[in-house]
Formats: sequence, structure tokens, C-alpha cells
Amino acid sequence: MAPRSFDMIVIGAGPGGYVAAIRAAQLGLSVACVEREHLGGICLNWGCIPTKALLRSAEVLHLMHRAGDFGLKADGVGYDLDAVVQRSRAVAKQLSGGIGHLFKKNKVTAVMGDARLAGKGRVSVRTNNGTEELTAPAIVVATGARARELPGLEADGDLVWTYKHALLPPRMPTKLLVIGSGAIGIEFASFYNTLGADTTVVEVLDRVLPVEDAEISAFARKQFVKQGMTILEGATVTKLDRARGKVTAHIEKGGKSASHEFDTVISAVGIVGNVEGLGLEEAGVKLDRTHVVTDEYCRTGVEGLYAIGDIAGPPWLAHKASHEGVMVAELIAGLHAHPVKPESIAGCTYCHPQVASVGLTEVRAKDAGYQVRVGRFPFIGNGKAIALGEPEGMIKTVFDAGTGELLGAHMVGAEVTELIQGYVVGRQLETTEEDLMQTVFPHPTLSEMMHESVLDAYGRALHF
Ligand SMILES: Cc1cc2nc3c(=O)[nH]c(=O)nc-3n(C[C@H](O)[C@H](O)[C@H](O)COP(=O)(O)OP(=O)(O)OC[C@H]3O[C@@H](n4cnc5c(N)ncnc54)[C@H](O)[C@@H]3O)c2cc1C
Repeated sequence: MAPRSFDMIVIGAGPGGYVAAIRAAQLGLSVACVEREHLGGICLNWGCIPTKALLRSAEVLHLMHRAGDFGLKADGVGYDLDAVVQRSRAVAKQLSGGIGHLFKKNKVTAVMGDARLAGKGRVSVRTNNGTEELTAPAIVVATGARARELPGLEADGDLVWTYKHALLPPRMPTKLLVIGSGAIGIEFASFYNTLGADTTVVEVLDRVLPVEDAEISAFARKQFVKQGMTILEGATVTKLDRARGKVTAHIEKGGKSASHEFDTVISAVGIVGNVEGLGLEEAGVKLDRTHVVTDEYCRTGVEGLYAIGDIAGPPWLAHKASHEGVMVAELIAGLHAHPVKPESIAGCTYCHPQVASVGLTEVRAKDAGYQVRVGRFPFIGNGKAIALGEPEGMIKTVFDAGTGELLGAHMVGAEVTELIQGYVVGRQLETTEEDLMQTVFPHPTLSEMMHESVLDAYGRALHF
């Protein structure tokens, strides 16, 4: 069969790949998007979306248990784990199916199969019906990442799970160990803990959610402990002994080793890029461990070859991947493309309480040589937070004392994953403290705390 020719081929239909394909098609390019497993990638099928569906069930359960706080009665409160998981899978399926419709609408050719670079401008795809060759002057690699497996802590799907097993649990854990307290680990810890699992989280670094501002980590930790979790920081799981129905974890902390029994372990120790079997090295692409090295425009240094999303390195977030998808499509179509600014990409963790941040932490700002002004505002000082029954949380802002530039914003509490975008827009528009202070925030909203935190940085907070 003669190769099919396109203007652009995208390998991988996760948020990076499918967005790149759609944007390029909007700009008049003929595009093929090759996907070996499922449209929507990890994000829609095994990541962002199904986890948020699970966490929503946990949140509703938590509120049902608190019905009395709101003057309500809810007897016999409980859950059906299979139904909770089925809902999560149905949400994922609905959204993954939606990508197929978007491809049809935008005339993107979806090719289901395993792709490999096969020389300049050529991609070979192994499909159910044999091997097909595609050609295009521009090829975008968006093959994403998978769970990192540490020696001795490998998942087996029964006692030791990765995020995929945790999304399709064979049973409800009774005594759960979560290894790693980044976003993925803490979200699963939060979900299973709310459903009643006796949950322990082990973090090798000195605090949970280690990329967050230290005050936010400490605040979140207190809440997790209040909810019954055991948090072991500066600790390492050195070995897992697996037996029928139980795992003995050997945990080292402060030079001492202790063994603890669990019936389930979730390993959430990071991710590795899907770089294997793609012919990247043969094509001359430079790899840094399991990631493709690119410049700010996602160019690999090999003419016509780009890499976006998780395979192109951190932050490993869907919105970073999709933004790079838009950028690269516009670049290939000959438009003036805007590189992604990593310091303006917000990170959100949907545990209870939620955590969200953008830009520099206070410590990183100081390390970078800034004189800082810091503002804080607690949820307890906000009318809407009290009305919602969510008085636990805080918003912290970090400014350059010299210029008034908002260097970073850090939040913990109800709905902060929705609030953070206000500061992201502010940073994108290069707003100063003055602009933020003069902005009128609607009342009563949680967003008023964003205003108050800025006011506090300049000694002008009104409600605390
Ligand atoms: C449990 C979990 C929760 C998460 N929650 C969030 C969140 O709340 N917010 C957030 O921003 N991010 C979240 N993430 C991260 C997010 O899912 C990723 O950053 C995002 O999916 C990366 O997009 P991508 O397009 O780079 O790759 P992916 O989504 O990984 O997609 C890559 C696609 O390429 C395909 N592929 C790979 N190799 C080939 C090949 N050779 N041929 C053809 N196809 C191939 C794969 O099958 C896959 O579909 C979460 C991740 C996990 C695991």
C-alpha cells in the first residue's frame, strides 16, 4: 500500500497530541493522529478525569457524613465501591468518546495502532490489519508517560498497585500504604482514607506535597492527620515482603527501620516517559533519562520532529501538554507561536483539602534573590467559606517587594483548584500588587480571600 501523506503526523492522542492535531486541522493542515490504546490518553482514561470522578464521590460521602452540620439528616450513609468505580469509568468513557467526535468534526484522521519513526518524515504504524506507512514533513511525538517502578516495589495488581490498579480496585483496601506524596499519591490517599481505609503515606522528602510552599504542606499535613492518616516524612520504604493477602513494608526513618503490615500498597513514586520503541535515538533525538530534550518551542533539534507533553519533561500536567500542543501546531502552520512559560503553569491537587499553586514559593523566591513581601489570609476570615462550612484553609501570596510583581500564589482549602486561575491570569497579564488591590472581587465569594491575601502583603487586610 502506498504511504498516506499528511502535513503533520501526531503520535499519541493524549491532551498534548489530540489538541495539537485539532489546532493544526483548524489552521488548514491535513493531520493524522496515531494512537495505540485510547483517544484522550492517560488524562481522560487513567489520570486527571477518572481520579476527579472518584474524588467527587469521596467528597459527597464526606458531606453526607457531615449532614448534621447543615441541619440535615442522612441515615444509613455508605457507599458501593463498584458503583463508585463504574461512575468514574463512565465519565472517562464519555470524554474519551468525545475526542473521536472532535476528530471527525475537525477532519483529523485517527489511526489506531502502534507508531514508530521510520526515517525522515516517515512513520510506520502497526495496526490490527498489518503495517501502514504515513508521511509528513512535521511529526509531533506526544507519547506521554507511565508509572515509575522502583526495584522491589514493583506493582503486581493484587497487593501492590499503580494508579491504574487504584482506579480499578479489585477490593477496598483496609490497611493502605501509599508510597509517595506528590499529587497522584495524595489524591489516592485522600480518596481511600475518606472511604474508610486506614491510610499511611510515606514520603522520602522532608514534607508531604514537597513541591508546594512549606506553609501549605504543613497546613495540608495537619488536615490529613486530623482525618486519620498517618504521615511519615523523611522516610523510605526499603522493601516489601509479599505474602497471601498481606504486605510487610520495611520503612526506614531517621536511621531506624521498622516493619508495618498492610493489605494494599499504592506506589506513586513518579513517572517515566514512553520513549522506548519509537526509533527516537536512531532519528538523532537527544534523551535525558526517559525524556526527550527539546527547546522552548518543543523542537527536538532534528528537523521536522517535535516532542510535547509528558515525554518532553516537567511539569507533568495535562494543561502544559495541551498548551504545548497548540503552540507546536501554530509553529508548524507558520504562525507566531508563544512558548509555554513553566512558571505560569498552575499545579492543582484534588485531595481534601484541595491544594493549588502557581509561580515561586516563598523559599524559592528568596533563593532566587528576591526581597519578598508575603500576604496570607485564612478561610476562617471569609464569609462564603463559613457559609459553606469550610473554614479550614489559607491563601498565601508572594510579591517582589521592589516591583510589586506577583511571584507566586499558594492555596489550600475548599475549591482552591478553581480559584488559582485568577492569579494565573494576573501573572499572564503581568499585573502588579496595585492592579490586584484595585480589582473589585464579588461578595460573597471565596475569591475575596485572594484580594485579602494581596492586601495583607501590604498591611491592608480588612477582614483579619
Ligand atoms: C492518576 C493521575 C492523575 C492525574 N491527574 C492530573 C490532574 O488532575 N491534572 C493534570 O494536569 N494532570 C494530571 N495527571 C497528569 C496528566 O494525565 C498528564 O500530564 C497528561 O496526560 C500528559 O498528556 P500527554 O498528551 O503528554 O500524554 P498522555 O496523556 O500520556 O497520552 C499519550 C498517549 O500516547 C499513546 N502512545 C504512546 N506510545 C505510542 C505509540 N508508540 N504509538 C501510538 N500511540 C502511543 C498512549 O497510548 C497515550 O494514549 C494525572 C496523571 C495520573 C497518572
